[in-house]
Amino acid sequence: MIHFVGAGPGAPDLITVRGKQYLEEADVIIYAGSLVNPQLLEYSKDVCTIYNSAKMTLEEVISVMEKAEKEGKTTVRLHTGDPCIYGAIREQMDILDEKGIAYDSCPGVSSFCGAASALNLEYTLPEISQSVIITRMEGRTPVPSKESIQSFAAHQASMVIFLSTGMLEELSRRLIEGGYREDTPAAIVYKATWPDEKKFICTVGTLAKTAADNNITKTALMIIGDAVNAADYDRSKLYDPSFTTEFRKATK
Ligand code: SAH
Repeated sequence: MIHFVGAGPGAPDLITVRGKQYLEEADVIIYAGSLVNPQLLEYSKDVCTIYNSAKMTLEEVISVMEKAEKEGKTTVRLHTGDPCIYGAIREQMDILDEKGIAYDSCPGVSSFCGAASALNLEYTLPEISQSVIITRMEGRTPVPSKESIQSFAAHQASMVIFLSTGMLEELSRRLIEGGYREDTPAAIVYKATWPDEKKFICTVGTLAKTAADNNITKTALMIIGDAVNAADYDRSKLYDPSFTTEFRKATK
């Protein structure tokens, strides 16, 4: 059995209880060494064999899984954050399907949630934004042209940009071209929930300068939108005294 497991954003106690249990039981762990906190490996048993997938190809990862499977072992494939976001899990699962190897997936805390916790941020403030757009600039992996930053910027929703720390001049340009004001609040969160986490509030226009001034070149998320520091949002209806819900009668 292969368990795909979300490691969480960094702090080792932010893995789920289920994910930790899988790590404790695993005979083989293949972890994404570029971003997974190695402290998580301390949950493994002494006889566990550990591989760092940062140094492996897809084929090598699969062959480790296949060998473990033949030996009746349990494997954990440990991905950073939640495996469903930029996790490259589908390509592994498709090959496992072809080979008839069983697997399941255990969610994790994505870094976009870790970054929000670092900022005490709510992405979905009433009258500000009720949507979160998760996207990236194209790198070696292309982004479909219908998903341009400019087209998403037109919504003025809360936006979280992954995998783009080295492209902030261009990101700002596209955000502004798409409709965000230059002074729209923005934040850069580096290594959210790690001991060396850093966070900066800036604006869409100062993203690149903020990163350069603070030597942030990778492992960061850019968060864009008025939700970053809005003061004039509406209160929720759910907790409004004059609002009746399924669980509570209005008191005013
Ligand atoms: N599956 C992961 C994302 C993997 S893509 C998740 O759910 O978070 C890798 C990118 O995620 C990095 O380039 C960076 O943009 C972001 N990232 C991952 N961990 C991060 C963290 N702790 N703080 C800030 N950004 C992080």
